Amino acid sequence: MSPVAITPPSEVETTSHLTEHGIEHALKRSAPSQLKTAALNENITDLPPTPTSTSKSGTATPLPELDASLLQCTYATSPRPVPAAGSAERKSMRACTDHMIQARWTSTTGWSAPTLQPYGPLSLMPTASCLHYATECFEGMKLYRGFDGKLRLFRPQLNCNRMLLSTNRIALPGFPPSELLKLIVKLCAVDGKKWLPKDQPGSFLYIRPTMIADDPALGVQRPNEALLFVILSCFPPMDDKKGGVKLLASQDDMCRAWPGGFGYAKVGANYGPSLVAQGEARAKGFDQILWLFGSDNVVTEAGASNFFVVWRTREGVLQLVTASLNERIVLDGITRRSVLELARSKLNTAYENLKPLEVIERKFTMAELDEAASEGRLVECFAAGTAWFVAPIAHIHYRGRDIKVPVGDGETGAYTKVLKSWLKGIMWGMEGFEGHEWGHVIDEE
Ligand code: PLP
Repeated sequence: MSPVAITPPSEVETTSHLTEHGIEHALKRSAPSQLKTAALNENITDLPPTPTSTSKSGTATPLPELDASLLQCTYATSPRPVPAAGSAERKSMRACTDHMIQARWTSTTGWSAPTLQPYGPLSLMPTASCLHYATECFEGMKLYRGFDGKLRLFRPQLNCNRMLLSTNRIALPGFPPSELLKLIVKLCAVDGKKWLPKDQPGSFLYIRPTMIADDPALGVQRPNEALLFVILSCFPPMDDKKGGVKLLASQDDMCRAWPGGFGYAKVGANYGPSLVAQGEARAKGFDQILWLFGSDNVVTEAGASNFFVVWRTREGVLQLVTASLNERIVLDGITRRSVLELARSKLNTAYENLKPLEVIERKFTMAELDEAASEGRLVECFAAGTAWFVAPIAHIHYRGRDIKVPVGDGETGAYTKVLKSWLKGIMWGMEGFEGHEWGHVIDEE
């Protein structure tokens, strides 16, 4: 069967979720206090308790929103050592920077003033909702030390928007994503100078905004208390695997996400249950699981990355294909979006020695991938996400057989290489990408 481009009507709605329109919709569902009065009349069936407080006289007043301008700062007096590049401590992913952001929310008082404070442990009651009912979600982004000496975030507003979608999915409170972004920027501005020194261009810190319900009530119910925190962690680079990544296709008895579930949200509940399969894959010498779904083995994602394939159709058309977001079993990755947008705008005509590509988001199966490989039509595959960045895939093990994926020069396929180089240029402020709108420059303190 040759692949065809399908863009169902619901695509537009689904892919708008991280946009301003999508966020406005999400806020309507989660934080009615932010709405203009007219919007309150909309027929929304799954609203949480309206975030207002009622005075003795019976008048309802909106509860305070998350407000970055109220930030209270307490600076660390015993600064933490920075682990050396390539050290075991850095690889352990345990080291965090000197400070963290915290903000508390309750259903009766709304959001309290956020704090920037020394990095340290949290205090939770054993009954805390997140420990029992997976009321936790998070984001993953990076702070980059550019080759031009500047500190940058990459499209951070999209991460903050996605965080709101995730909190919505698991009954955590809403917040204005732009306020979260201001808090992230402040933390990066405070810790960036020391933890990403200017003499180490090309380095990065991993940013982990997280929200947990720390409501100390064991009943299974919507949480009435929550904690938002943001930490900066030292991570090793993960896109330098020699000879390409090896994937193990998931077995029939396990899937990562399903229609009606929460695969589209970045909730902790998606990750814990995937670790058995990931551990087995690693023990067998693979790097990640290629998650399939359903009896026809639809290809969805690779580990915590979106999966892309470049193939030629039987008619000879070159296509860049990735799973669509329509069924909401795939995360709307910021890297995925960026790869699609770059490919649509720059690879729709010949680029240097590369032929133009058709860019397609659609459901596709392992059988199609397998056929393309056996008929010599498979050009390259790569995984794309914040942690793994753009990682060429060399090998997919599927139901007892090995599918060998071409990797260009032995390290990276040509399309993978050019897409990665454009993203890298924007993230690290390289020559030719200065001032790109996706790079959010941080003023250091
Ligand atoms: N898919 C999953 C399941 C992920 O956890 C991630 C990482 O966040 C991605 C895809 C890639 O998303 P992004 O590019 O926003 O990092």
